[in-house]
Amino acid sequence: MEIECPHCKTVLSVDGSQAGLVLDCPRCTGRFHVPVPMGKPRVPGTFFGPDSYESDPQVGEFVEKKFSAGICALLFGMFGLHKFLLGLHNAGLIMLAVSLSGVVLTPCLLVPIFGPFIMWTIGLIEGIIYLSKSEDQFYQDYAIQRRQWF
Ligand SMILES: [Zn+2]
Repeated sequence: MEIECPHCKTVLSVDGSQAGLVLDCPRCTGRFHVPVPMGKPRVPGTFFGPDSYESDPQVGEFVEKKFSAGICALLFGMFGLHKFLLGLHNAGLIMLAVSLSGVVLTPCLLVPIFGPFIMWTIGLIEGIIYLSKSEDQFYQDYAIQRRQWF
């Protein structure tokens, strides 16, 4: 089957047995997810379109988190909850540690208040980014590329 690399737009022919795997594009070395076909003919270039989600439960499951992660980031972003939701544990732990240590240390020193404030700002921005991304872009960035920040 033929799919389009989401990074460099090169049309690649992929063996059917590679469906569901994450591949490196030979042209630009970008990583992407090969969709699992479900009998339905796929329109070239739209393999991340709405049709492909139902054929791949893993993608659908992840994309369903887009809204809850976005809301989580807007409300509790400074504690990194939205990162844990997406499985980005390292970034989540950093946010949680910075925010908690800021809350604990601020009564003694004045400076650490900036830590939680910065984390809160990051959470707010990430929430807006999550909610405004398209579902295919969201999946590409956080499930495949495992982007930790923004
Ligand atoms: Zn490519």
